[in-house]
Amino acid sequence: MHHRISGHLFIISGPSGAGKGTLRKLLFERIPDLMFSISCTTRSPREGELDGVDYHFIDEASFRHMIAGGKFLEWAKVHDNYYGTLREDVERELRDRKNVILEIDVQGAHQVKSNCPGAIMIFVAPPSISELEKRLRQRGTEEETVLQVRLKNAIEEMDDSSFFDHLIVNDEVARAAKEMENIIHSYK
Ligand code: 5GP
Repeated sequence: MHHRISGHLFIISGPSGAGKGTLRKLLFERIPDLMFSISCTTRSPREGELDGVDYHFIDEASFRHMIAGGKFLEWAKVHDNYYGTLREDVERELRDRKNVILEIDVQGAHQVKSNCPGAIMIFVAPPSISELEKRLRQRGTEEETVLQVRLKNAIEEMDDSSFFDHLIVNDEVARAAKEMENIIHSYK
């Protein structure tokens, strides 16, 4: 009989506005025993976001200190802010045979893959760039200049999808969430 010695590490990535966050939240409703790794960020909390729930909100000095201390499994500067995954949290959950979900940008996804070759990479793509722009505008959380940066980055990030194990086109949320659930369930 085979026993898994560790959980699976799933990386959900893709351009911002593609709907990674929405799909991830739906995923946790459907598969509650997954573990979400709460990232650190230097970005300010948005309305309704909670420290220690959505992110650990920290300042740039603390972030740099943690980089130097090797605290991050990966980190990246994304749209002018720093984001990083806490190494200790992820390693502990995997040792406990929990399946862990990272929701991170494409740069971070590549870093994790090179450190943890067994990680399963899932790319969430918008149906089109114009649809992505529409969604970013509807979300209304960013100023125009910030939105333009995110859009420009998104166009570049779309090229990365071929490095991923799975590609989900988020054309319709319920359908895409089901597809993500099926992918996770296919790894025993
Ligand atoms: P937002 O500011 O909209 O919450 O996130 C911006 C981007 O940073 C999103 O693509 C999000 O997935 C990504 N992100 C969130 N946490 C991390 C992290 O720990 N590492 C990396 N590399 N990206 C992250």
